[in-house]
Formats: sequence, structure tokens, C-alpha cells
Amino acid sequence: METQVKKYDCGIIGGGLAGLCLAIQLADRGVSVVLFEKNQYPFHKVCGEYISMESWDFIKSLGLNLDQLNLPIINKLGISSEKGFMLEHNLQMGGFGISRFSLDHALSRIAIAKGVVILEHCRVNGMEDLGNEGFIVKSALGDYNVSILCGSYGKYTPQFLARNPAETVNESGNYIGVKYHIKTDLAPNRIELHNFKDGYCGISKVDQDWHCLCYLTTSRNLQDNGKDIKAMEANVLHKNPFLKSYFTEAEFINKAPLVISNIHFSKKQTQTDGVFLLGDAAGSITPLCGNGMSMGIRASKMLATELIRYFEQKQSIDEVSAHYQKAWNHAFARRITAGYYLQGLFGKRNTTDLALRTLNKFPGALNKLVSLTHGDRF
Ligand SMILES: Cc1cc2nc3c(=O)[nH]c(=O)nc-3n(C[C@H](O)[C@H](O)[C@H](O)COP(=O)(O)OP(=O)(O)OC[C@H]3O[C@@H](n4cnc5c(N)ncnc54)[C@H](O)[C@@H]3O)c2cc1C
Repeated sequence: METQVKKYDCGIIGGGLAGLCLAIQLADRGVSVVLFEKNQYPFHKVCGEYISMESWDFIKSLGLNLDQLNLPIINKLGISSEKGFMLEHNLQMGGFGISRFSLDHALSRIAIAKGVVILEHCRVNGMEDLGNEGFIVKSALGDYNVSILCGSYGKYTPQFLARNPAETVNESGNYIGVKYHIKTDLAPNRIELHNFKDGYCGISKVDQDWHCLCYLTTSRNLQDNGKDIKAMEANVLHKNPFLKSYFTEAEFINKAPLVISNIHFSKKQTQTDGVFLLGDAAGSITPLCGNGMSMGIRASKMLATELIRYFEQKQSIDEVSAHYQKAWNHAFARRITAGYYLQGLFGKRNTTDLALRTLNKFPGALNKLVSLTHGDRF
């Protein structure tokens, strides 16, 4: 394949929320951006599709008028134990529901309108570091020359990039994620988290009159059920009476779920091989905290702020690295650790039941726990 003659200021590998938000902010400030996405918009993703309210104003500032989309605003939380107890809680900040199918697609159109070159069906397979001359990005659609390279490729570090050796130290098992869209009568302002053995399942409303039903469980659970998702749901998830009702009474839009495997939750790193990382590529939080998307979006703002100062020749690339890493750690390191420990309370028949019954009596303590995994509006 040929190397493209044009040199872009910035290349972005992966067009999920983190990559798209970064692209829009850079393009807004006159930075030329090429974004590589291996899929084609719009497409579905395994995600609970509950976004904490901290991102609402920022997403609007990128040009997506959320007010007009009539989205469900979620301020009530119910958490059930396998034994059938339901904790009830009013969320302080809360969130809103929108499918990734709709949200990522809308942001990709905004990015294109602002001049970002989005290459779809375009997997990045490698890169060459040219030192002060930037990078050659090797993609399915040829080689591209960029000055700065950012990685927002999500959970799975591509083979051509070095993993943080410390990553394995804090890794919390090996999980799978499963997602359906369903039609059910769960109130639009309510999110529910239902525990089952070695996992939990979130249900909340999104756009299009659908609810998202998405669960996380250990790979082991699937293996123990003959690698058969339906068998695992019947044998394990249905033991929670609330979940059993959803699985047997709701209308499932697609019979076959979306499934991803090999999921780990840990802090990774903000830069590898000279590539700036953001979103899940830099570290991910357990989904029970309902906050991974806001973290990716917030990281895009932090990185864009530093890169814009670099392109305006107000700071060096080393300063970008140092400032971004410091801001990232300040904003997220504690949240990821808190999420990791919180996850330990979930998915256990007796411990979870006891924890929920206790927390139900102390809403102030629950507020504190939730706030450990969230940030302020930005
Ligand atoms: C089961 C589960 C439930 C969750 N529920 C929630 C929730 O309710 N709320 C919440 O806030 N967060 C939730 N999360 C977390 C949330 O989904 C992620 O934090 C968020 O999607 C991260 O965004 P991102 O842009 O970093 O990555 P992604 O959205 O994963 O985007 C990465 C993109 O990169 C592309 N890509 C990857 N490799 C390449 C390559 N080599 N070349 C080109 N393109 C590439 C992919 O196709 C993808 O589009 C959940 C996660 C899981 C696993």
C-alpha cells in the first residue's frame, strides 16, 4: 500500500467516545486529524449505555444537542441480590441513557462536519516511530503520516504497542460482557443492577424506546456452562428472581446478544511507545460504577487541552506527556481502585445480600461509595 502524501497533525486509532471527542476538540482548534476506525458507523457495542451526568454539558459543547433527543434521565437506582432483596437509592448526580449505536454515530457525523477525516473499515495494524518526524500509521487503507499519534482503541492493546508491565499486577480476573436491547416496562428514570453468581447485570432505558440489558461475568461461569450463553443465563442468571422475570417476560429485540471476552479492569498507562492513550486504552473501571464512558470523554478533554497548547507552540511534547499523565492520575487513579474494591462486594450470594441490606439502611454511605467512582460535571 502507498503512503499518503498529506501529513496530518494528529492520528487517532479507534473511534469510540474517547477518540471521537478528542478528534472534535482538536478539529475545532484547526488541528488536522485523521481517525482510524475498524468498524463502520453506526454499530452496536457491548456497553451498559448509562452515562453519568458529569458528561452532559461537555457533550453538548461538542455540538450534540442532547436536550433535543428526549433521552431518559436516570435518578433512581435499584440493586438486587440473588436472594431477592432490592436496595433502593436516589442517585445524587444520576445519568442518562443513549445507545452507543446512536451516540457514537452522532459524534462521528459532528467530527466529519468539523473536518476530521474518518477512515472506516480501517484497522490499524502497525506503526513506525520516525522520532521528530512523527509516525507512519500502517492501516488497512494504506500508510498515513502523522505528527502526533493517539490511541483510543478501547480495552484491547494492539500487538504492535507495548503493554504496561505493571498492568497485570492489579488485574481483576478475566470477564465476558454480554448485551441485548429489550423492550420492558422498567421506569425510564430507573437503573437496576441485578447480582448473580460471579456477575451482575444492568438494565436501564436508552433511546428508541429500548432498554439496554448488559451483564458482566467471569469467563469461568461461561466455561462451566459448556460455553453456552443461553445455558448460563438459565442456570445462573435466572437464580435471581428479578432477572428471571426480565429474561422470560421482556421482548428481546435481537435474539443473539453481542458478546465480548477477555475483559480486565486496571490502570494501564497514559503513553506507550510515544503514543498518547485515552479512554479504556489508558485504563478501565468496572462497569458497575457506570462511569467508563465519562472517564473516556473527560480524558479526551484533558489530552486535547495539552495537545492544543503543543500545536500552538506553547509547550513541548515532553510537557504534554507530563501534564497529561498528572491530570489523568489526579482524575482517575482513585476511581479505578475504588471500582476494583467495590466489585468485590458484587456477585456473591451471601456477601452481596448482606452488603445490600446494610447499605440500604445507610444511604449516606452509599452516596459516598458512588461518589468515589464519579467526578464533577466538566
Ligand atoms: C459489560 C460492560 C458494560 C459497561 N457499561 C457501561 C455503562 O453503563 N456506562 C459507562 O459509562 N461505561 C460502561 N462500560 C465501559 C464503557 O463501555 C467504556 O469505558 C467505553 O466504551 C470506553 O470508550 P473508548 O472510546 O475508550 O473505547 P471504545 O468505545 O471501546 O472504542 C474503541 C474503538 O476503537 C476501535 N478499534 C480498536 N482497535 C482498533 C484498531 N487497531 N484500528 C482501528 N480501530 C480500532 C474499536 O472498533 C472501537 O470503536 C461498560 C463496559 C463493559 C465491558
